[in-house]
Amino acid sequence: MNNSSIYLQLVTNAVSMSPRPKRKRRLIEPPTVTGFVPESGEFDPENGIVLHFEEYEAIKLADYDNLTQLEASERLHVSRPTFTRIYDSARKKVARAFVENKSISVAGGRVEFDTNWFSCLDCGTVYKEEAGKGDSESEKKTCPVCKSEEVIAVEDNVGKRGMHRNRRGQAQHFREGMGMEGNCICPKCDYKAVHEAGVPCAGILCPKCDIRLLRENSEHHKIILKKRKK
Ligand SMILES: [Zn+2]
Ligand SMILES: [Zn+2]
Repeated sequence: MNNSSIYLQLVTNAVSMSPRPKRKRRLIEPPTVTGFVPESGEFDPENGIVLHFEEYEAIKLADYDNLTQLEASERLHVSRPTFTRIYDSARKKVARAFVENKSISVAGGRVEFDTNWFSCLDCGTVYKEEAGKGDSESEKKTCPVCKSEEVIAVEDNVGKRGMHRNRRGQAQHFREGMGMEGNCICPKCDYKAVHEAGVPCAGILCPKCDIRLLRENSEHHKIILKKRKK
């Protein structure tokens, strides 16, 4: 092999290597929260911090589930150094939000979920569905609660941040369902569970419908009840 063909070989390798295929990070389920706002209410909604889904998951795995970074990286289907990078970025963003009085939106990123999660753009219902069900093109997906056809896979929505939140009021959405008392309710079948302090209703799935519960009589719940009547 002469010099020029070695050079060519190197160039070819470089070309075939880039762009490196970007692997998706694996999440068991979408985050239960859509974001946080400073208590003072005085913040610039246009300049909030965007915490990507995988960054949220990194903090959850490492600091909430108390996994080692190696275990956490395996859960997220990334290498250990990649996990460290995602985790560092996540913590820096949260620190910036705390210190600089910024809101945090949990949105965007490059992720896929262990099961198929869908979100209704009209009423905000988040639900999961078995793989294969409703996969054919002719069978249009509809929201199980309000029957809207504006339904998208949560996985497809992660690149378009805040999309579903923007269709409803922002601050109002964050402030709904406050307080320790009350029930979590299924927006489809009205199954109820007593709300447990510190556990978001959205973290509980309706045992019958596979739909995330929400706080009874919250703004979000009222919107859904109105849509359901139609
Ligand atoms: Zn809906
Ligand atoms: Zn239900």
